[in-house]
Amino acid sequence: MATTDRIFLSSPHMSGKEQFYINEAFETNWIAPLGKNVDSFEAEIAAYAGVKGAVALSSGTAAIHLALLLLNVGSGDRVFCSSLTFVASANPISYVGAEPVFIDSEPETWNMSPRALKRALEEAASAEKLPKAIIVVHLYGQSAQMNEIVSLCNQYEVPIIEDAAESLGSTYQGAPSGSIGKFGIFSFNGNKIITTSGGGMLVSNDTEALQKARFLATQARDNAIHYQHSVMGYNYRMSNVLAGVGRAQLQVLEDRVQARRAVFDRYYDVFADRQGINFMPELANTKSNRWLTTLTIDEKTTGVSALDLIEALSIQNIEARPVWKPLHMQPLYADAQYYSYSEESSVSEHLFRTGLCLPSGSNMSPEDQQRVIDCILHTLSLSNASMR
Ligand SMILES: *Cc1c(COP(=O)(O)O)cnc(C)c1O
Repeated sequence: MATTDRIFLSSPHMSGKEQFYINEAFETNWIAPLGKNVDSFEAEIAAYAGVKGAVALSSGTAAIHLALLLLNVGSGDRVFCSSLTFVASANPISYVGAEPVFIDSEPETWNMSPRALKRALEEAASAEKLPKAIIVVHLYGQSAQMNEIVSLCNQYEVPIIEDAAESLGSTYQGAPSGSIGKFGIFSFNGNKIITTSGGGMLVSNDTEALQKARFLATQARDNAIHYQHSVMGYNYRMSNVLAGVGRAQLQVLEDRVQARRAVFDRYYDVFADRQGINFMPELANTKSNRWLTTLTIDEKTTGVSALDLIEALSIQNIEARPVWKPLHMQPLYADAQYYSYSEESSVSEHLFRTGLCLPSGSNMSPEDQQRVIDCILHTLSLSNASMR
C-alpha cells in the first residue's frame, strides 16, 4: 500500500558508496581509534569549507561545546545566541556555566537580527558585560546577515561561532557557510543534509586551536607513557567507521543540495502565489541548501493554521513540524535575557506561531511530494469552502 507509506521530514539518504569506506575500515581492522577515514574526512570537509582545518567529533553539540571552551568561556560569562533554533545551539553555553542571552530573528532571513544584536551589544558595553562569544545560527540552510553581524562583533571584539549544523552546502556571498566566524560547526545527525548516523565537525582557520580541540576531545591526555591528565577532557571524537560514512556522503553533498532545492521549487511553484502563504526567503547573494522547506501560513487569510496543516498531513501519514520553538520561550531558558527585533515585535515568536516545515528529504520521490501537495491543497480548499 504505497499510498500510506510514511513520508518523513528528512530521512537519511545513503549514496551506496558508504559501504566501501566501512569495508576498508573493517579490512584493515581500523574500527577504532581514529584512523584514515577520520583524517581524510577532516581534510575533505576543511577543503570543502575553504578553511585551514577541521576536527571530526561525535556530534555538532560537542563541536559547539569545544568552540566555547577554546574561547575560554566559563562560569559568569555571557554568550549571545540566536533564539529561533534547536536547543543544542545553546545548551553548551550552560555546560560551561555561562549565561545565554537570546537574540531575536529578522523577517529578511529568519536568523539573528543585526538590529537586535546591536541593541544587545550597546547595552552590554555600557554595563561592561560584553559577551565572551556569539553563536549565530543559519536556520534551515539560510545564512544570517553575516556582513552586518561580523562588523558589529568586530567593533566590540566578540568572536563568532557559526552554528552551520543545518547549512552545510550553503554559501554567503560565495563563502561556504561555517567558514566566516572564528569557529564553524557542522552536524551529521541522521536528519541533516548529509549524515554519519551521528557526528559533528569543528572547523576554523586557527589550526592551533583545532589541535587543542583534538586534545580536549580525547580525554586531554598529557604527553606521557602513563595516563596523565592536567586538565579535564571529553570523549568527543568521531569513530573511524562513521567517518567512512561521512566521506561517501560528502561526495554527494552537491547532489543533495540540488535535490533539496528542487523539492523547495516544487512547493514554491504550487503555493507561492497564494495569499497568506510565505516561504522562508533566500537573501540576495546567498545560496541556501534548503535543508527544510519552511513557510508561514496566515490563518486569517487562509482559514488554516500551521497546526491544522500539520494535523491534516499527519492523518495522511506525512511528517511535518512547526518551526523551532524559540529558546527564550522554552521552560529551560525561562530566566534568560531576550532582545526582541523591536519593542513592538518579536519576529521569532511570530514565526513559531505561523511557521511549519514540510517534508524535504533529498530521497523523497516527486510522487510522494505530490501526496504532500495534494493534502495541503485539499485542506486549503475545505477551509475556502467553509469560509465562503
Ligand atoms: C542538529 C543541530 C545541532 C546539533 O547537532 P548534533 O549533531 O545533533 O549534536 C545544533 N544546532 C542546530 C541548529 C541543529 O539543527
